[in-house]
Amino acid sequence: MSLETERFFAERVKAKVSKGVHEVNRIARELSQTGVKMVPFVLGEPDFDTPAHIKKAAEEALARGMTHYPPVEGLPEVRRAVSDKVREELHVTYDPDQEILITQGGTIGLYIAMMAIVNPGDEVIMPEITFGPYVNMLNVAQGKPIFIPVERRGERFIIRWEEIPKRVTPRTKAILLNDPQNPLGTVMSQEELAMVGEMAVKENLLVVSDEVYEKLVFDGLKHVSIASLSPQLRERTILVNSFSKTYAMTGWRVGYNAANPELTRAMARVFQVSARCAAPFTQMAVLAAIRGPQDCVEEMRQKYDERRKVLYQGLKEIDGMITPYPQGAFYIFSDIRSFGMSSWDLTLHLLTEGHVVCSPGSYYGPGGEGYIRFSYATSTEEIRIGIEGIKKALNKLRKKR
Ligand code: PMP
Repeated sequence: MSLETERFFAERVKAKVSKGVHEVNRIARELSQTGVKMVPFVLGEPDFDTPAHIKKAAEEALARGMTHYPPVEGLPEVRRAVSDKVREELHVTYDPDQEILITQGGTIGLYIAMMAIVNPGDEVIMPEITFGPYVNMLNVAQGKPIFIPVERRGERFIIRWEEIPKRVTPRTKAILLNDPQNPLGTVMSQEELAMVGEMAVKENLLVVSDEVYEKLVFDGLKHVSIASLSPQLRERTILVNSFSKTYAMTGWRVGYNAANPELTRAMARVFQVSARCAAPFTQMAVLAAIRGPQDCVEEMRQKYDERRKVLYQGLKEIDGMITPYPQGAFYIFSDIRSFGMSSWDLTLHLLTEGHVVCSPGSYYGPGGEGYIRFSYATSTEEIRIGIEGIKKALNKLRKKR
């Protein structure tokens, strides 16, 4: 007897999800099992180990018996540490008792933000090339992404923020920012942030600001949070952050949201019935991360910087591929339109013929087709091997024609 399981599905899980990183990884795993060595340009996570003093703090917390429910909003000393960190680094003050929520990482941080503010049919504005899961999250919230154009002008991506007002409707709730941006590798200028901020205030919109790559900025740039631009912007911003990228802690699942007390309470209600809380010993690990020495962060950043240059230079030399210059996060988003193939097909070709694993641009919103994302969260040696693999695969393609 067939259950016809799909009949039971809620509308919110029915939306089509584009094939992305997970599917590419699945195929790559199958190929690896046949003995082929693959170069990973696909990772959305640091390849470094979590620094030893952070691990030690978790071990000590476990030894002390910190294995029970902490408060939903997080341990008070961890909220205090986050509040101090945000004040010192971003120059925004959040009350640790009312305005900070320790989460299980940026993903759930974004999810609880969406679930707290989006009713079915509500709209959220974001660039048409964006972090893939944003759209999937909005689908689950039964909201609607509204896209603003992204243009590539030579080696630069321009997000057309000035288009925001034209897209605002009575259903628009928020602008979703990601700065530094995955997959574009862009870092917003103060002027861009101010422009978006002004429009948010004028149109009476919230800003959900995903700043998980805050420490990964290069060329002497400095990360600025939109929440720091004015008291009005602080009031209407939900700042989402995570320890995943900064301290190589993707598997630990800890992050934080900061927002005004009403928004924080609303998000806590969703958090309470979903993740419930972040494990206390992982919270103690991030306490050590925040309060401890920060050289590990800078060391990793410098390594990423070296890799960024090697990958950028290598991709730039490839005929037919146009590679914009990245200044933040750890991704490069190259234009592959001249090869006349979809980003998914070219990703598969690079996988099977070049033994490199990257991700198709089509996963990154409706403007992503025609591009491929390369992550440089991998060693320089592997990057060099990977570039040769890409060249070999593309040469084969040219010969076929
Ligand atoms: N936002 C962006 C832009 C990301 O790239 C990621 C991870 N790839 C996240 C949020 C979520 O990270 P995490 O859940 O590990 O904190």
